[in-house]
Amino acid sequence: MTVELVCVGTELLLGNIVNTNAAYLAEKCALLGLSCYFQTVVGDNQERMERTIRLAVSRSDIVILSGGLGPTKDDLTKETAAEIFGRKLVEDPHTRERILNYFVRMKKENITGNNWKQALVPENAIVVDNDNGTAPGLILEEKGKRIILLPGPPNELKPMFERHIIPYLQNINSEGIYSKMVKICSIGESKAETMIADLLEAQKNPTIAPYAKTGEVHIRITARASDEEKAELMIKPIIEELYQRFGNTIFTTDENVTLEEAAVQMLREKGMKITTAESCTGGLLAGRIMNVPGASEVYQEGYITYSNQAKEKLLGVRAETLEEFGAVSRETAAEMAVGAARSAASEAALSVTGIAGPDGGTPQKPVGLVYIGCYLKGRTRVEEFHFTGNRSKNREYAVARALTILREEILKYE
Ligand code: ATP
Ligand code: MG
Repeated sequence: MTVELVCVGTELLLGNIVNTNAAYLAEKCALLGLSCYFQTVVGDNQERMERTIRLAVSRSDIVILSGGLGPTKDDLTKETAAEIFGRKLVEDPHTRERILNYFVRMKKENITGNNWKQALVPENAIVVDNDNGTAPGLILEEKGKRIILLPGPPNELKPMFERHIIPYLQNINSEGIYSKMVKICSIGESKAETMIADLLEAQKNPTIAPYAKTGEVHIRITARASDEEKAELMIKPIIEELYQRFGNTIFTTDENVTLEEAAVQMLREKGMKITTAESCTGGLLAGRIMNVPGASEVYQEGYITYSNQAKEKLLGVRAETLEEFGAVSRETAAEMAVGAARSAASEAALSVTGIAGPDGGTPQKPVGLVYIGCYLKGRTRVEEFHFTGNRSKNREYAVARALTILREEILKYE
């Protein structure tokens, strides 16, 4: 089933208010398995509103309108929708009573004549109670098409949608949307996309969508089906195919598992402890490992060694190494990792040394140059990176790469 959103209000057209209702409704409709191909904003003008709603009704099964249900003259949505379906407006006694009660509850005295305008509803409409205001929501059904009218204020629209419209939509649309996430590291976004170009080309149901994250690629597989079991059967072969192509660069198929969790879990399984020696990331890597509940099983101590003296004193990096190759060098990264593992008596160690920027770069060693070292049971690997982000992005990238290298080294160790 298709749904189309029409948000009414000149304030929206002028940019005076942000169209948060559209974002909210679109997200909810997607979760309900409804396909939304069009969203429109139209001002409080009857003629243009009528054209917009007619077009929406002609091309979509369900049209959801937000705004313009209020008591004032410029609130014309209900009148326009009623006219399109050829319905007269009649007074709804139930709504009249609710309006009265609302005024009593809010201790408002002066109900004006135009408040009663809100008790007028199109003939044969389904009236939806508004628990936070006076304008009721309305549902009009006509020859397989549906118009749903909702009040504009988000504090009225959202509870009404949750309580009344979602059950209504679930009832008429038996299909839901279910998705799974495959998370990949060690492979960049463009390469990952190329590797599944044919799948992306052929996708229909399930759909396949890659997203680039810092140092990771996530692929969401979404199936439209009548129940979760059927959806899982549709998604499973795609996940298998992705495993064929990406192998163990897939670190999880669980939406909630992070890269650091996957890495900590591997250390735990191997009974290994890790330590970190950080220069430009200044504890960010340790912090990410510490995000994982139960990290204490694999992490006991770490080092932030920003200055050369600290690298010598805490990690035993040799003065000659620093002198000859500099603090940001392959050699220093290696000695940092080895020294940290020795000092903390751990099987594994990660080191990071680099120039995060914005200052401190030279032609030989530009901003974004980062060396990451990984020591694991006697073997040391160092990788050189050239990141192109700002200071904080470069630090985040370095941390993601460090965790990825750790994972790769543990996999090799098997
Ligand atoms: P009211 O009874 O308040 O007049 P209404 O149903 O007629 O409600 P509008 O007059 O269109 O709705 O909008 C009322 C207020 O609701 C706006 O001033 C704005 O604050 C909010 N609003 C309306 N439409 C949207 C939207 N699409 N996204 C976010 N907020 C909105
Ligand atoms: Mg209004």
